[in-house]
Amino acid sequence: MNLTDLGWSDFFAHSFAPYGEKGFNIARVAIAYKNTYILYGEQGELTAAVSGKFRHRNHQPEDFPAVGDWVVIQTPESAAQATIHEILPRKSQFSRKTVGSKTAQQIVATNVDTIFLVSGLDGDFNPRRIERYLILAWESGANPVIVLNKADLCNCLDDYLSDVETVALGVPTIVLSATNNQGLSALQPYLQPGQTVALLGSSGVGKSTITNQLKSETVQVVQPVRRGDDRGRHTTTHRELILLPTGGLIIDTPGMREIQMWGSEESLQGTFADIEALAKKCRFRDCQHQHEPGCAVQQALIAGKLDTSRLLSYQKLQKELSYLVRKQDHQAQLAEKERWKKIHKAMRHHHKH
Ligand code: GDP
Ligand code: ZN
Repeated sequence: MNLTDLGWSDFFAHSFAPYGEKGFNIARVAIAYKNTYILYGEQGELTAAVSGKFRHRNHQPEDFPAVGDWVVIQTPESAAQATIHEILPRKSQFSRKTVGSKTAQQIVATNVDTIFLVSGLDGDFNPRRIERYLILAWESGANPVIVLNKADLCNCLDDYLSDVETVALGVPTIVLSATNNQGLSALQPYLQPGQTVALLGSSGVGKSTITNQLKSETVQVVQPVRRGDDRGRHTTTHRELILLPTGGLIIDTPGMREIQMWGSEESLQGTFADIEALAKKCRFRDCQHQHEPGCAVQQALIAGKLDTSRLLSYQKLQKELSYLVRKQDHQAQLAEKERWKKIHKAMRHHHKH
């Protein structure tokens, strides 16, 4: 395997340089189990664990390697597995709140270049849901592409497309039918060698079908010719970072599938647990963390415990989300008005006869 095909770029080379000089190697995380990792590197596939020092230094779930990470490793010839010493800074990351009562974030996928926001062009089509997924994508640092699947079930594509345009102006939009293998070639520009893609969307929209269509070609390329004696040994182990024949990569982790879309501002808690915790200590319950006296968030900024850029992105997202909620309320009101207009009209019509 060559590093460029695995997604290596100047961005990572820059932070790896000092480690390279000291003789460390580099590899990308393909699967993250609890304490063991499967990596892809120039040497092929490796099993790895974090070093004792790494474990000692890092305590938060987000500090540990996730699928998509580039990790600084040592591969002693005597040992069966590689040792992970460091994670290179991430270009993008998807996180969710860890399961349970703790409000720690867990990273489920990193270094994703493009996120396919998949929707079905069927009865479940919902532009507002697309809008919310879009925010999730922007927040991760990856570039969104809207993928409208099940085109075969739709006979009013123009209406759907103009709906999408109102919520996602300027975002590339691709229409396809995965089961019929139609339109998938439009995804190729995002799956060039070294490009990493993840699929996001509600259950049932066709993410597995799309992934399988793209993967099926992979299977043909890498699967060894079936011989009589290795029957039953063909259960290809599931990899969460999948190298496609195009050289592009797909991230398909259970975690990615379980990422919930945001319903309201409350959902910010998973991603900005640190700021939410600080905000609870502000003197005023409705503190906007601007110039209020007794603001714990501003105090943390001054003390250097919180990044200004992090607070800014939190505030920006908070605004976007409250805007979304307001807009939804407004649209719900309009729809209700429309509904009653129809009912009244129908009643008038009824009385005339
Ligand atoms: P996921 O939950 O997003 O992974 O969705 P799946 O890939 O499991 O697809 C859900 C269902 O939609 C399956 O029954 C698929 O066969 C069906 N499906 C997927 N793509 C298409 C499509 O392009 N057209 C139609 N008619 N059905 C599709
Ligand atoms: Zn405050």
